Amino acid sequence: MSKTLIRGAKILGGEPQDVLIDGETVAEIGTGLSADGARVVEADGQILLPGLVDLHTHLREPGREDSETVLTGTKAAAAGGFTAVHAMANTFPVADSAGVVEQVWRLGQESGYCDVQPIGAVTVGLEGKKLAELGAMHESRAGVRVFSDDGKCVDDAVIMRRALEYVKAFDGVVAQHAQEPRLTEGAQMNEGLVSAELGLGGWPAVAEESIIARDVLLAAHVGSRVHICHLSTAGSVEIVRWAKSKGWNVTAEVTPHHLLLTDELVRSYNPVYKVNPPLRTEADVLALREALADGTIDCVATDHAPHPHEDKDCEWGAAAMGMVGLETALSVVQQTMVDSGLLDWAGVADRMSFRPAHIGRLTGHGRPVSVGEPANLTLHDSAYRGVVDPAGFASRSRNTPYEGRELPGRVTHTFLRGRATVVDGKLA
Ligand SMILES: [Zn+2]
Repeated sequence: MSKTLIRGAKILGGEPQDVLIDGETVAEIGTGLSADGARVVEADGQILLPGLVDLHTHLREPGREDSETVLTGTKAAAAGGFTAVHAMANTFPVADSAGVVEQVWRLGQESGYCDVQPIGAVTVGLEGKKLAELGAMHESRAGVRVFSDDGKCVDDAVIMRRALEYVKAFDGVVAQHAQEPRLTEGAQMNEGLVSAELGLGGWPAVAEESIIARDVLLAAHVGSRVHICHLSTAGSVEIVRWAKSKGWNVTAEVTPHHLLLTDELVRSYNPVYKVNPPLRTEADVLALREALADGTIDCVATDHAPHPHEDKDCEWGAAAMGMVGLETALSVVQQTMVDSGLLDWAGVADRMSFRPAHIGRLTGHGRPVSVGEPANLTLHDSAYRGVVDPAGFASRSRNTPYEGRELPGRVTHTFLRGRATVVDGKLA
């Protein structure tokens, strides 16, 4: 069995310690550990975190391999410090059957860069009309526990209620893309001052908030778990905070880009800023940061949404919605949450590993950095400063809103069950 000694790492930002990995597990933690027979990684005060877990990744396979495959997407995940990602169901064909989720699961097993947990569709073909084979997907080898029509909202209240009732039997969760479809017809960006000035169709906050309000009430009514994808407004935060104060089983995520970017960027008409839900206002950004800090928002999820060049390099109205995010997520969280003093590194471990793993009921991920635990680990150089260059991305797509922007920190090493997937910032 191979051994690796990580020397002088600040576990969750604490005092520097040595961490010995033996085979697939953390074997020893202490100071002055012997490097005998072990490959040595000089951490030199870098931050050691549990491997990051993403609840919301679009890997695009099957069907859109021109934008991403399970292999390229898991390489991007490893480069970003992730050891497990949940693959969204809006593929072609849709992951609405045991066959498709097993295919994605098998491709993930073959990749070796990052574990892939498929998400199953809530409705057949994401059409919102008929429940998909939730039980069969759960019973399959993929063991699906998270269901989502992400990209589309489950807007029919009866279908949503039935889905919540169904997944309750096996402690599953429905992850809702909260977007009232009638209120967002033809919408191109956040509805507000900027959309009025630009004359672009607006996407009102109430379209998100009204669905969240309905769904937390439905979840409470049936006693099931609901998870709200990519919260983007201050009002959504207030509703989730209220639902949690009632003791209801509601969890929520925020994307890195909604923690940093605002709708002012749309003035450039650069489609790299076109995303669903849209970039909102400064007040929304600050409310989201505060909610992530106080735990109202449980976790960060990337909503990594790769698109090929031709779907983004066109006029605003015709461009696809979405941004890649796996390889910049931790840096954006460092800038917005850690460097701003809102969250310490233990908090980052909680919001980017422990809680997302718990929401997905993933075993083997989101575990403490302790002796005997699986060695899913991320070493992050928080002192690093660099400009984002998408040419260096492992993702097949380049649609990042951060090109040319300086972001703090970089992942230098990622370990998946003791095996290095990233070494010195490069894929192993
Ligand atoms: Zn979505």
